[in-house]
Amino acid sequence: MRDHALGGQTLPMIPIRRGEGVWLEDFNGKRYLDAVSSWWTNLFGHTNPKIGAAIKKQLDSLEHVMLAGFTHEPVIQLSEQLVNLAPSGLTRCFYADNGSSAIEVAAKMSFHYWHNQGKHQKRRFITLENSYHGETLGALALGNVELYKQIYQPLLMDVITAPSPDCFHRDSGETWEQYSHRMIEPMRKILEQHAAEACAVIIEPLVQCAGNMRMHHPIYLKLLRQACDEFGVHLIADEIAVGFGRTGTLFACEQAGISPDFMCLSKGLTGGYLPLSTVLTTESIYGAFYDEYISLRAFLHSHSYTGNPLACAAALATLNIFATEPVLARNRQLSEHLQHRTQALNDHPHVAEVRQHGMICAIELIRNKKTREQYDWQQRRGLRIYHHALQQGILLRPIGNVVYFMPPYVITEQEIDYLVDTATQGIELATCD
Ligand SMILES: *Cc1c(COP(=O)(O)O)cnc(C)c1O
Repeated sequence: MRDHALGGQTLPMIPIRRGEGVWLEDFNGKRYLDAVSSWWTNLFGHTNPKIGAAIKKQLDSLEHVMLAGFTHEPVIQLSEQLVNLAPSGLTRCFYADNGSSAIEVAAKMSFHYWHNQGKHQKRRFITLENSYHGETLGALALGNVELYKQIYQPLLMDVITAPSPDCFHRDSGETWEQYSHRMIEPMRKILEQHAAEACAVIIEPLVQCAGNMRMHHPIYLKLLRQACDEFGVHLIADEIAVGFGRTGTLFACEQAGISPDFMCLSKGLTGGYLPLSTVLTTESIYGAFYDEYISLRAFLHSHSYTGNPLACAAALATLNIFATEPVLARNRQLSEHLQHRTQALNDHPHVAEVRQHGMICAIELIRNKKTREQYDWQQRRGLRIYHHALQQGILLRPIGNVVYFMPPYVITEQEIDYLVDTATQGIELATCD
């Protein structure tokens, strides 16, 4: 709030009056291109007519009913469609109402599954360095970004942290694939050592988004799936940010040809309209809870707004756009354009690398390219880019010294050009001293 204080460091809070497509408009009529999809939620633009109409229609028949003992048409249709689209073997959906809650559900369900199997010693989770899974206490414990986590450490469950396959750390000359191959080794050692006490490994497939948009090769997911099977540990894929076409395929796991034991979805699930999340899981995990009431094996986890019909209607409209328009093919074109337009930044003296997976493109700034000396975080150089972009009518929100583009899929090539040009100017301004 201090950043936004009047007379302070000149970052006034921006009240938004309306949105349309990739654009947001403030009360002075100034427009901002939403280059980060309002924190990675928006897929098909603001006030999308199809999604809006679906919600309005749903509003006239049922706004909400509890999802216990009762069910409703949108949630049934959504579950059927998600099961059809998801990697094979994921046949069951458990609903919640935001991403962090989906992570809590997956973690509790994994632990509880093993408990129901009589494996009471399995009660720890294996997570990756630099990972992010949300900010409720369980989700926070499973993540590894210091900024969010450190102060709350005394409140958090103990997890086992494995090195990340994050390819930023590869040796020069080493490919993403080679590095991701190499980084499965420490994970395998951890799995071998902790198999008896580990419930699950949790990973953000392909991109650690909140962790500075760091990326890895799909081969890591494939090898991780094999290792989890070998050591009898679940695999939780947190596709909350990367699901729904972000990385080029509908789900990131598809690029490795794997099926996780749990897949968490939220953010883009409703096209960025309403809070909703779901955890997809397998028939065999579902079966471990299916029993007489008095056996007390059931999975109890409830949120009041779980599976809200309006949110489900938004999700169905979103899936309908995927089904009726060539979204992924168009995204492929747009990501190629983005790649082409950002290529030159690789030669910038203060750009460590430009990396990309589909519709996520990140530019990492660095003080010294040769020694890889980082900029001091206290200088907040990313904020200078944020400020410059706002003046130019773009909402960019760098994470530390990483500028990234994660736009709604309805962006045009011309808008991408404007985005890249403005970010390039911002990078100049932020690195000129
Ligand atoms: C945003 C995010 C979450 C948390 O979702 P919320 O709805 O913000 O609680 C979890 N995991 C990943 C990978 C995310 O990007």
